[in-house]
Amino acid sequence: MKHVIIVGGGPAGLFAAEELAKNFQVTLLEKTSHVGGSGLVSDGKLNYHPKIGGDLTNFLTERESWNLIESIRLKFESLSVPSDIFDESKLRQLEVKAAKSGIRFIKIKQTHIGSDHLGEVIDKLRKKIENAGVQIIFNAEVHDIVVKGRIVTAVKVKNELYPLDALLIAPGRIGSPWLISTMNKHNLAMQYNPIDIGVRVEVPNEVMDEVVNVYGCWDPKFHIDTASYDDFVRTFCVCPRGFVVKEAYEDTQFGVNGYSNREMGSNTTNFALLVNVNLTEPLENTTEYGRRIVQLANTLGGRRPILQRLGDLRSFRRSTWDRINRSYVRPSYTEVTPGDISMAYPHRIVKDLLEGLEALDRVMPGINSDSTLLYAPEVKFYAMRIQTNKELRTSIPNLFVAGDGAGVSRGIVGAAATGLIAAKGITKNLTS
Ligand SMILES: Cc1cc2nc3c(=O)[nH]c(=O)nc-3n(C[C@H](O)[C@H](O)[C@H](O)COP(=O)(O)OP(=O)(O)OC[C@H]3O[C@@H](n4cnc5c(N)ncnc54)[C@H](O)[C@@H]3O)c2cc1C
Repeated sequence: MKHVIIVGGGPAGLFAAEELAKNFQVTLLEKTSHVGGSGLVSDGKLNYHPKIGGDLTNFLTERESWNLIESIRLKFESLSVPSDIFDESKLRQLEVKAAKSGIRFIKIKQTHIGSDHLGEVIDKLRKKIENAGVQIIFNAEVHDIVVKGRIVTAVKVKNELYPLDALLIAPGRIGSPWLISTMNKHNLAMQYNPIDIGVRVEVPNEVMDEVVNVYGCWDPKFHIDTASYDDFVRTFCVCPRGFVVKEAYEDTQFGVNGYSNREMGSNTTNFALLVNVNLTEPLENTTEYGRRIVQLANTLGGRRPILQRLGDLRSFRRSTWDRINRSYVRPSYTEVTPGDISMAYPHRIVKDLLEGLEALDRVMPGINSDSTLLYAPEVKFYAMRIQTNKELRTSIPNLFVAGDGAGVSRGIVGAAATGLIAAKGITKNLTS
């Protein structure tokens, strides 16, 4: 039986493993002591849409993309993830309301596992995969691949070699520096992805309650083209009754993120408001650009995230604890420094964010009020995109990549989908 090795036990690696086990001997090498990847530390919002969390139409037709997404939804359902009931007519009403306000609302089937339930779901998936015959080896960090005559023949874990017929590398964002250096070593082509730079916005639950509970949209995606710069701004990772948290980036840099539990909640809703930045010549390196901005924000905040009231940002003054304490929105995260985001972010980004909030206020009145809280930095770095064909095969014919680390997804469902696309590619490659 032919042997496939998968590097990385996140959603991409796990979904690929189960599919590949139908035809091959499969070994999954995971550098930590558990599977789940960065999905395990998330709050498990699942967006069942081919263009959210990546763009599957880069690899499949529109219809194939939707079919793949539906198969992933059914898989999660079989793992006891409730498939929420979507009221199409309500979502359509919200779409119309947004359109009348000059912004786009993206209708998506969504579900929310919750940080407090994610462990159980991943445990079930692991058991299913092991029952299908996949061998999972923990604490096995792959640090090199062996290539002979443009064919990959093995991977190296410490001094041990694991021979293989095909290799799928799905190491997530955390493994992307290693993946990039490995791709460079073997002259495989890559390109920079755009980056998202923004803030975490926090408002009282009442402000977003209508959208979340009346229209029944847990993680609403609003897309805005800003008036001044015509830049693309969007809402991302809405956390109703949620909490803001600090998130470590690479090296010593950090930003903020958010999460919600399914059961215990707060009085506030938070979400990321992100400006999409794409660079061309002479600087294409969006990662470097983002890192400089994060560095400035981290330095200004005295190694804490910056917190500012929207009213203070608009009035060209920094926030202070006194001003924040007088505000009626209580921050859910307080290990911050009240400050001035406009000292760290370029004018263009601040302007985009202010115009984005103005536009959102037409759909969710109250968002653009002076007491709305903004935390910075929140930057979404995406891995460099490894050049592949539509089956996610690199120019080494038995080497495939998938997931966030390869720059082809940005979310649990998207990562799982690319894992399945690569698995199909490997099956075709090894059986033809
Ligand atoms: C705080 C947070 C919240 C999030 N919330 C959501 C959300 O609500 N909804 C959503 O859709 N997405 C969310 N995401 C994103 C989501 O978690 C990722 O998109 C998804 O997990 C990517 O899957 P992946 O398989 O590509 O990589 P990962 O999940 O990162 O998994 C990669 C795995 O590879 C392993 N690995 C890396 N290098 C090696 C190596 N050299 N050898 C062996 N193993 C290796 C890692 O240890 C890891 O287990 C969130 C992410 C974070 C950080």
